[in-house]
Amino acid sequence: MLGGVSAASPKTHRELRSQHFIINYHESISYDYVDKVKDISEEFYRVITQEFRLVRNKLWLWENRTKIFIARDKEDYLNRFNCPSWSTACVNYKDKIIRTYPDQENFSSILVHELTHIIFREYVGLKKLPLWLDEAVTVYMEDKYSKKSKRRDLSPLKKAIKDNSYIKLAELNTITASNLEGKSQSYVNLFYLEAFSIVSFIIKKYGGDSFSQFMYFLRRGYDYEQALSKAIYSIRGWEDLEKQWKRFYQE
Ligand SMILES: [Zn+2]
Repeated sequence: MLGGVSAASPKTHRELRSQHFIINYHESISYDYVDKVKDISEEFYRVITQEFRLVRNKLWLWENRTKIFIARDKEDYLNRFNCPSWSTACVNYKDKIIRTYPDQENFSSILVHELTHIIFREYVGLKKLPLWLDEAVTVYMEDKYSKKSKRRDLSPLKKAIKDNSYIKLAELNTITASNLEGKSQSYVNLFYLEAFSIVSFIIKKYGGDSFSQFMYFLRRGYDYEQALSKAIYSIRGWEDLEKQWKRFYQE
C-alpha cells in the first residue's frame, strides 16, 4: 500500500519510541498494550535479523526507524489508512511504515510477517525477487515463531505433489501479486503453502547457513537460479530443485 504521512492529529495521538521503532497510537489505546507491541517488535527485529544473518548497511536508527501506526479500531484503520478492507495490517516498504489496529488475536504473527518482508527486502533489494520467495521467507518465519498448534499443515501439499496438481516451478517463478489476485482461493492457498515448503526443504536438507548464503548471493546481484546453485552446489538449477523438493515430500 502506498500512502503518505498519516492524517493523525497530534492531539489525539501519542508516540512511543524505542531503539528501532516509532509507534504512533491513538490516545484511547492503553499504554500497556503499546508497550507490549514495542517489546514484541524489538524482539522480532533481533530474531529475524539473526535468523538469516540479514545484516544491512543502514541501521534502523533515528529517522530510519520503522514506524508503526495503530489506529483506534478497525473502523478508524479503514477510514484513515488506505488499506484493503480484508487486511489486518498493511505496509509501505519504501518508507518502512506498518499500519494496523489493536487487539487482534494473532498480532505477533501479523507483525513477524510484515517485519520479515521489510527486513528481507531491505537486505536483498527489491529488484529481482520473485513473489513466491518473498512470501516463502515471511511465512517460514511466521510459522517458526508461532505456537505448535498454529503451524502449517503440509499434507495438502504432499497430496498435490502426489497427484501432480502442484504449481510447477516454472509457473511459480512468474506469479506476481496482481495475477495472484485473479486466482481461486485454493490456488492462492497452494501458492503460499508450496512457497513455504520449498524454503523449508532447503533449510531442512541443506541448513540455515546455506540458505543465508543464497540470500547473500541474491543481494550481490546474482539472479535467483544462479544464487541458489552458487550457495548450494548440489542444487544445479530450478529443475533440479523441483526434483529434489518433490522427492523430499514424498518420502
Ligand atoms: Zn506477505
